[in-house]
Amino acid sequence: MKIHSKAVHSGDRKRVAGTPIPVTTPIYAAASFFYDELESIDKVFAKEMHGYAYSRYDNPTNAALEELVTHLEGALGTLATASGMSALQIAITAALADRRKHVLAANALYGATVKLLQQVFEPFGTTNAFVDICDLDAVAKAIAAEKPGVILMETISNPLLRIGQIDKIAAMAREVGACLIVDNTFATPALVRPIELGAHISLSSATKFLSGHGDVIGGLVSCDEEHFEPVRALSRIYGPILGPFECYLTMRGIKTFPLRFERQNRNAAAVAAHLSHHPKVNSVYFPGLENHPDRETTSRLLPEGQFGAMVSFEITGADKAGVFAFFDRLKMIVPATSLGDVHTIALYPAIASHRDIPPKQRARLGIHDNLVRLSVGIEDIEDILADLDQALAQS
Ligand SMILES: *Cc1c(COP(=O)(O)O)cnc(C)c1O
Repeated sequence: MKIHSKAVHSGDRKRVAGTPIPVTTPIYAAASFFYDELESIDKVFAKEMHGYAYSRYDNPTNAALEELVTHLEGALGTLATASGMSALQIAITAALADRRKHVLAANALYGATVKLLQQVFEPFGTTNAFVDICDLDAVAKAIAAEKPGVILMETISNPLLRIGQIDKIAAMAREVGACLIVDNTFATPALVRPIELGAHISLSSATKFLSGHGDVIGGLVSCDEEHFEPVRALSRIYGPILGPFECYLTMRGIKTFPLRFERQNRNAAAVAAHLSHHPKVNSVYFPGLENHPDRETTSRLLPEGQFGAMVSFEITGADKAGVFAFFDRLKMIVPATSLGDVHTIALYPAIASHRDIPPKQRARLGIHDNLVRLSVGIEDIEDILADLDQALAQS
């Protein structure tokens, strides 16, 4: 099946003997399950029989969502977690369990991911090194020098939207026995399926494009054969699972995700083209633009004509107060901390996602104080452009 059909059908309509087949998976708000004979639950615990015993281990609503995402990601199995951050934590923990406790990470990562590495893993003895993941020679050198147990990158980086060569990095990781974990939140499985490109684990914040309506916090860890059981086993003990209500909402969101995402991609390309010629804008960052530094990788790894729904741009000459004023003038675009929703969202990286990075380091990473990040929604493109134009007019 193709993605639009998988999104609508995968995971649903499991048959339960003696009951009618519901068209969508119900919310199983049960903490535990029992059977007519005690022997059955004994077999479930012994993994001799498929079944449910306790919802920290497994729940039918979760299982439906997990099967759906497994199909979307081209993975062997998926775990739905309480947030994108808990997805990262359990993936890194499982991957490091039998490997050298050293992480080689992209130097452009979601802010909380950097904190997770430095403030949560480091105190337990894990060490970290960072590299420009789009510089393949630098990555090769770093792998040889650092001998990492885990390599961690994002498919499309935040907020400058750089694209690394997942397939080549995966091959290098496999050569040295390292586990490649890819945060696929910005690209989504509609653009890139990291496991098909050789990554071991592909994870996402379900909060963003997949659920898509700004009403869920959730995460998804999709694994290859080697990593699924360890992740699942850890989750049974740790318990960072997504609740069945949120699983239901996420699954409901995913049914229209490919449809929404196509339109968001189209709108984003139109926004990027418009801003590229705007007198108040001095730079636009978008993987679909001719001048994007990873043009070759983009045309190799992304489907033709689709570049995601994120656009970043710099307001000419604006200081912090100027950017604040721009945000305050927005009438329809929502100035909120998230991305991937049906509505267009504007975020100011210097005070939000990259707030905790010292200004000098931020500048070195190319994240200037006049940079604005947009997550483009499904509204009418004329209304999105009109709102941007009126807010930029006085900048
Ligand atoms: C939002 C986000 C996360 C964290 O997800 P939560 O659901 O907020 O925990 C991780 N990685 C990326 C790229 C994100 O955008």
